[in-house]
Amino acid sequence: MKTPVTVLGLGTMGTALARAFTAAGHPTTVWNRTPGRAPGLTGVTRANTVADAVSASPLIVACLLDDASVQEALAPAATEFAGRTLVNLTNGTPAHARRTAVWAAQQGADYLDGGIMAVPAMIGGPAAFILYSGSEAAFEQHAATLSDLARPQFVGTDPGLAALQDLALLSGMYGMFSGAVHALALTSSEKVSPTAFAEQLLVPWLTAMLGSIPALAKDLEHGADGEAGSNLAMQSAGFVNLLDASRDQGVDPALLAPMGELLARAVREGRGDEDLAAVVRLLRTAA
Ligand code: NAP
Repeated sequence: MKTPVTVLGLGTMGTALARAFTAAGHPTTVWNRTPGRAPGLTGVTRANTVADAVSASPLIVACLLDDASVQEALAPAATEFAGRTLVNLTNGTPAHARRTAVWAAQQGADYLDGGIMAVPAMIGGPAAFILYSGSEAAFEQHAATLSDLARPQFVGTDPGLAALQDLALLSGMYGMFSGAVHALALTSSEKVSPTAFAEQLLVPWLTAMLGSIPALAKDLEHGADGEAGSNLAMQSAGFVNLLDASRDQGVDPALLAPMGELLARAVREGRGDEDLAAVVRLLRTAA
């Protein structure tokens, strides 16, 4: 028999997780704070209390709104967790993950924190992956079950590492969206077709630029290998035009102005001949 599982939370993501587990043949118990959520979800056992839901399975997957909702939901069932594995797929910070790991250990439970790199429709499909950190033994024990949700990737025994890398990936995504949103605001200030611009120019350009990210990471890790091909003094001078043109076109440069300030600061601090790895170092110094 496939491992019985419990899913806490039937929001759009929790429902997708429960559906993937039932589709893969796992006896699946679900609980949601508001009863009657996800009426179309069939083939599951609906528990009335968190304690009943937790006691039904060796593997409990929590997917709630935020860290506060996880704490609120789990507390009444604390004594039921001994000997089980708690997998928390709720979005949170490394600090949240480390604190919940301590709480789980106090209850005698194994703990895995996870970051879902997918939207609900992708769960159970080939493009979805989930980052996990925490108990390596629990990961090895449950990897096959977790792979019914999405490709599982273990990133370390520090429980905070999955949340850290989840948030880093979301940072990369929002940075890309910020650039795309600004680009479309700029071009749509004139009679440039947004669709044609996006399909014929923006996507090919961003795709080409993605190829430079591994080199940036390598420079950061090992130091620059020779002269910067696109030095920061040149980039800072060009960035001023980007901001000025935005204002001229009536487009708020709010999304991009901070990057211009960082480039200018790098140049002021004598790093004009370096590459973007210097900006990464500047950010870390600011923190
Ligand atoms: P959602 O549809 O808004 O559902 C939120 C869930 O949290 C509901 O089941 C809600 O229960 C429950 N909840 C909220 N406050 C609670 C509390 N105090 N106690 C107990 N339960 C509480 O959100 P979702 O899209 O399923 O997202 C769930 C988690 O997955 C989030 O952390 C999100 O960041 C993460 N995630 C989502 C996506 C996505 O695209 N949807 C992608 C990656 C990661 P009620 O029904 O009672 O309100």
